[in-house]
Parts: sequence; C-alpha cells; structure tokens
Amino acid sequence: MAAKKLSGTKVARAMRKEMAAEVERLKADHGVVPGLAVVLVGDNPASVSYVSGKRKACEEVAINSLEHKRDADFTEEALLELIAELNADPAVNGILVQLPLPDHIDEHHVLDAIDPSKDVDGFHPINLGRMLVGEECLLPCTPHGVQQLLLRGGVDIEGKHVVMVGRSNIVGKPLANILLQRKEGSNATVTVCHTRTPDMAVHTRQADILIVAAGRPNTITADMVADGAVVVDVGVNRIEDASRERGFRLVGDVDYAGVREKASLITPVPGGVGPMTITMLLHNTIAAAKTAHGVE
Ligand code: NAP
Repeated sequence: MAAKKLSGTKVARAMRKEMAAEVERLKADHGVVPGLAVVLVGDNPASVSYVSGKRKACEEVAINSLEHKRDADFTEEALLELIAELNADPAVNGILVQLPLPDHIDEHHVLDAIDPSKDVDGFHPINLGRMLVGEECLLPCTPHGVQQLLLRGGVDIEGKHVVMVGRSNIVGKPLANILLQRKEGSNATVTVCHTRTPDMAVHTRQADILIVAAGRPNTITADMVADGAVVVDVGVNRIEDASRERGFRLVGDVDYAGVREKASLITPVPGGVGPMTITMLLHNTIAAAKTAHGVE
C-alpha cells in the first residue's frame, strides 16, 4: 500500500494559526510586537525569493518584518556595523542574514557577530553549543522543523532508529543532535551517513525514520528503504523542465514515486520540510521577543 503523505504545508498552516494568536496575545497583554530584521546583500534571485517568502510569512502572523537590502559590493565592515546596530535596536528581536553572502564577505564573521539572543537562524556557535548540551536555546530552523513535522504528524521518535543522510552544519549535524537528546520528542538512536559511508543502503534499510539531506536527486531509491519506514526528504533540487513556464521543477533527494510504495509515511517536495523551515523562523522570533521582554 502506498505511503501516506506527511504534508509540511498543512502542519505549517496549523502552527502559523497558533502563532498568530500568540502574537495577538503578546500585543494585547504586554504591548510587544516581535520584530524580525532580514538582511539581504546583493540580488541573487533565489535569495530575493526566500526573503519575499519570509516577509509574507511574517505578515501572516503579524510579526514586524524589517528588511535591510544592500548592494552586492557592500563591505564586510559595513555589514558588521549594520549587525551591531540591529543588535542594539530593541525593536529587533531576530536578525536573519540571508545566505549565501558575496565571496568578499566571511560568513562566519557575520554570523558570529549576531547577538545569540537574536540569532533566530540558530547558527551562532553559542546556540549550537547549547543545543549540543541540551540547554534551552534558539534551534536551527530546518532541523527543528523536521522534528516538529514528525511529532505533529503523529510519529513517535523515542526509541526509534533514525538514519540521517547528510552531515552539513545547517541540517544533518544539528538534526542528528536534536533527535539524540535525552528529551521528550527525541531519544532516538541515530546513525549519520555521508559520502564516505561505504554501502549506505545497509544503514538506510535499517531506518525506522529515514531523513535525507544530501542535495542530490535520487540519492534514495526504493531498494534502500525498509517496508513501513517513515521518510523525510529535506532536499530541494532544480531539475530542468521545458514544460514548466519557469523552465525547471523542484524535486527532493528521494525517488518519491518508488519510495512511497514501500514507506508508511513520506514528505513531498515541495510542500514537505520547506514550509516548516520558515515556520520555525517565526517561532524563534516570537520566542526571542518573549525572552527579551521577560514574558513566560
Ligand atoms: P550540503 O551542505 O551540500 O551537505 C550535503 C550532505 O550530504 C553532506 O554531508 C554530504 O556528505 C552528504 N551527501 C551528499 N551526497 C551524498 C550521497 N550520495 N550519499 C551520502 N551522503 C551524501 O547540503 P545541505 O545544506 O545540508 O542541504 C541538503 C539539501 O537540503 C539541499 O538540497 C538543500 O537545498 C536542502 N535544504 C532544504 C531546506 C528546506 O528548508 N527545505 C533547508 C536547508 C537545506 P559529505 O559531508 O561527505 O560531503
């Protein structure tokens, strides 16, 4: 029997409704309106489109979205000054620097300059360190979004064998860490695979929950998946498609048509993890605003 679809679009919609109500309460009871500053350097079309998606998401839940667009030749020094201003601005609860940055700017210098209490992307080493030791912190959005998608989709993570394909700093490593924590909603046994893993299928076939963030179409085919597994496809890949107006379509890292015949639950691309990532950014911005104003 074909797998059920685990829709990130639906879960994200439900979460944003809850968040809109929370923002309304924050404003009514405490006079607080969370503010997210988004910094975009240059005009990379994908980045411009991500920034516009974030603006719309903020509007949906009535978070203030403050955009700072700069030309591609904006210097690292000037960007660090802008970050310092945003760190000091009480109307700004979250700071997001859209990546990638132009080559002349060192991404680490910039991300490390963000006040960890405003680091709504969860990429600051302080937040990553707190995550590692299981302390309260702003969690990275895509990994946290995957965990929430599983939990709200009715998947019990505790005690399950999670196999994570990919070990990047923004998806694979933090997600493996989150699911490994001795905490409710985690407590999984986690295996992490990467390009130096020999015979990866031996591992992926053992997964109760298989999460794939490799950045390559068809990394996972049906023969690599156990019957009844839960499959989460984080990948987003552009495939040329002359039949589409924009000349391409988006696919994940999993051969969806084949794998859905074996899995019990599977996320689609698009409409799976993507909407959850932006939703967790909103979640972090609200959490940062509550912390800044001492609201429980
Ligand atoms: P990345 O930095 O390129 O990392 C890819 C990881 O996958 C690396 O650890 C790599 O191993 C591993 N890998 C690649 N091919 C593999 C293979 N054939 N077998 C085993 N491991 C393999 O990518 P990323 O930033 O984590 O992103 C991964 C995908 O998720 C991309 O398609 C990206 O667009 C997507 N993404 C989606 C969202 C969302 O919101 N939906 C957010 C972030 C990323 P090595 O370390 O050995 O090179």
